[in-house]
Amino acid sequence: MSGCKNWKEMKDVGKPKKWQDVPMGGIAYGASAENVETGQWRSIRPVWNEDECISCMLCWVQCPDRSITTDENGKVTGVDYFYCKGCGICAQVCPKKAIEMRPEAEFA
Ligand code: SF4
Ligand code: SF4
Repeated sequence: MSGCKNWKEMKDVGKPKKWQDVPMGGIAYGASAENVETGQWRSIRPVWNEDECISCMLCWVQCPDRSITTDENGKVTGVDYFYCKGCGICAQVCPKKAIEMRPEAEFA
């Protein structure tokens, strides 16, 4: 392990001569984004129309936030508004126009 414990010590000893002298950096743990309600950023909301949907899964594939929900058979069931940021990609790719983007204010 490195003989240097922190940046103050690094400053004292100067530039590290080998990688073992570089102090340990911070650690970001995975899965922390799961608790972030990114849906609060949304200004327009995708509204899914079950009657028009043919469950082609294009919206599910393209959604950058994994916000299109499905049942155990892989059929689309709607939108998870906890994560959906309202980017509108799902509505753009839907071949049946089964998703309509509406102002979030309508649902306040
Ligand atoms: S892209 Fe449209 S038709 Fe296809 S699953 Fe999504 S909402 Fe349904
Ligand atoms: S609006 Fe964007 S984030 Fe929301 S469900 Fe559609 S593709 Fe996903």
